[in-house]
Amino acid sequence: MIKMAVVNSQPLKFKVADYKEDIWNDWCVGCGDFGIIAAIQIALANLQTPPHQVAVLSGIGCSGKTPHYINAYGFHTLHGRVLPSATGAKIANHKMTVIAVGGDGDGYGIGAGYFLNTGRRNLDFTYIVYNNGVYGLTKGQSSPTLARGLKTKSMPEAAIQDGVNPIAVALGAGYTFIARGYALDPKHLAGLIQQAIEHRGTALLDVLQTCPTYNDLYTKEWYSGDAGQKRIYKLEETGYDPVVRDTSNLDEIVAKKSQALMKSYEWGARIPIGVYYQAHAPTYDDALMERTPALREKSLAEMQIDNRDVAPLFRALG
Ligand code: SF4
Ligand code: MG
Repeated sequence: MIKMAVVNSQPLKFKVADYKEDIWNDWCVGCGDFGIIAAIQIALANLQTPPHQVAVLSGIGCSGKTPHYINAYGFHTLHGRVLPSATGAKIANHKMTVIAVGGDGDGYGIGAGYFLNTGRRNLDFTYIVYNNGVYGLTKGQSSPTLARGLKTKSMPEAAIQDGVNPIAVALGAGYTFIARGYALDPKHLAGLIQQAIEHRGTALLDVLQTCPTYNDLYTKEWYSGDAGQKRIYKLEETGYDPVVRDTSNLDEIVAKKSQALMKSYEWGARIPIGVYYQAHAPTYDDALMERTPALREKSLAEMQIDNRDVAPLFRALG
């Protein structure tokens, strides 16, 4: 009998630098986006996902430039349309790690319909929202997450609409992994992104992102809190348990969603970050494979589709 040694400490194959693109980055100095992109690259290196097995898609906005700066497949899509595009990418090649990114205006405003329906579908990909309370790329108009009565420096008057609570909406929509991170804590954020990618199902990661150019309310100093009392705290350090153990138990699901909902309204003196809710439920990917078992072997992108006669299909459709 020949027994091979078990190697526990394989040398790392991919480094953080392997996920970086060497092109000019035109985000403003001090923008929270730098922390988010660093966290994505750290997470991918930690997971050792080869760059050619990653697809990063974006909507329109400052965050929309993210795919340009990451060494992976990328698609800079239309305003509010990153989620249907990511859905298509994942269905076309379910073996890829798909990451959708976009701003709060892009995802919770213009793409709000997609935001809802992506949650209930539970396709296996990650959605990261750069939430800064403004439309940064178009000079700082209030976005859907800015609360009534607030006025940032580029607004002539205070907002006269309520802000949306994205975590509460995500709970209702059916997302099976819901978390919130902070752009200026990339190490913690990288851990959340890693968990979101590893989660099987649609993961929403709302990231509190500073926009020093247009949002003079939610600044680094504001998030840091007053002396002696940090505004941002980590749920996992408080004994908070986000995980549903028995997904057939509706009472447990409701209890876990209720505690997440309560936490989602905690905003002001204290703001929780971390995983709010997680449940392991059947995915859209599973349903597709059940209907088309060939997908277990090959993704749609790998299947041979040349010389297929589609005429019978059109005839059947009348
Ligand atoms: Fe970042 Fe705001 Fe500048 Fe856009 S406008 S790059 S969000 S600081
Ligand atoms: Mg924004």
